[in-house]
Amino acid sequence: MSNLFNTYARYPFDLVSGHDWHLVDNHGKTYLDMTAGIGVCSFGYNDPEITGAVEAQLSQVWHTSNLYESQLQETVGGLLAGPDKLAFFCNSGTEANEAAFKLARKATGKTRVLAFNNGFHGRTYGAMSLTGNPAIQAGFAPLVPDVVFADYNDPQALDQIDADLAAVILEVIQGEGGVYVGDQAWLQSVQAKCHATNTLLIIDEVQSGIGRTGYKFAYEAFGLDPDIVTMAKALANGLPIGAMIGKKALGPAFTPGSHGTTFGGNKLALSAAEQVLTKLTPAFLATVQQKADAVWTTLSDTIAPLKAVNGISGMGLMIGIHLDESVPVDAVIAKLQALGILTLSAKHNTLRLLPPLIMSQADLLAGLAQIATVLKEAAV
Ligand SMILES: *Cc1c(COP(=O)(O)O)cnc(C)c1O
Repeated sequence: MSNLFNTYARYPFDLVSGHDWHLVDNHGKTYLDMTAGIGVCSFGYNDPEITGAVEAQLSQVWHTSNLYESQLQETVGGLLAGPDKLAFFCNSGTEANEAAFKLARKATGKTRVLAFNNGFHGRTYGAMSLTGNPAIQAGFAPLVPDVVFADYNDPQALDQIDADLAAVILEVIQGEGGVYVGDQAWLQSVQAKCHATNTLLIIDEVQSGIGRTGYKFAYEAFGLDPDIVTMAKALANGLPIGAMIGKKALGPAFTPGSHGTTFGGNKLALSAAEQVLTKLTPAFLATVQQKADAVWTTLSDTIAPLKAVNGISGMGLMIGIHLDESVPVDAVIAKLQALGILTLSAKHNTLRLLPPLIMSQADLLAGLAQIATVLKEAAV
């Protein structure tokens, strides 16, 4: 019996403590964590600098509202936005996308937004209305009007970008949808058409950002320059936070009263975010790239050839192993849990891996070896 709404299909254990990239459940069992809490705890559990910064802030002051100046917001905003962009802080990925949706309509005076089938942007009315997954929208109509959809990586989508469009929103790697990577030439054509039609390009980096792909933001790998970027998951290593970064030219559209949130930019989450961004140096990102190179070599040598596997997609430490329909991903996840390895699924029977970015190469490869063993046994 539970006291909770049944919104999640929960596994029958509670993760009660953690260190680095290991978690321990309420039965005392230790797991190798290849999920980072759905791409959140990139610096693992109990990082001394992040925990230390939050503990120091905890004994100073937790919350002061947005009625006062905030040096922490200025500092983290500076680390994220640089000199030619502005930041807005909120509490989640869905809220970051709400802010982007509102800013795009207000700044352009236009209403229509193009989003993509298989995309995921969150669960509130605006973000859900931008999410190209009928299962997520089912039962909640009417949705926010004037959102249109096209197929991801489809050249015909460009025909839907015209002067009546306020914005295009997309993930450069569709995470929940199955870890599908955008085609670089297509993404650049989308951006060029946006520029030609005065349409804003919003890139949702909630899952792919903050070092996940070995870049600070995945869009850098595709040579893109979005007008608005949204982020959340890994930004404060597990404290609730979201952020929207927009080009300075969009600034005048948001004035006092245009948008806001009580908890957004609170000092506890921001103290963690400051540490995360301080640790996310080019040298750290280079270690992620190096480990990812070893991981992708192992994936193509030992996992791609398996009968249970139809293909592998992703970038950096954002990995989707597409399983044959005869091998249900939920059964694979359960077998791996029994062996002490935590993994995720994504749409289309995809086994998804989002390990903490700090996981050692040896443990990354050890995890893949166990996955290979389970997939070998699972194939009929
Ligand atoms: C998780 C996710 C969201 C929603 O973030 P929440 O913090 O759960 O609201 C939005 N976009 C993408 C790409 C995500 O992966």
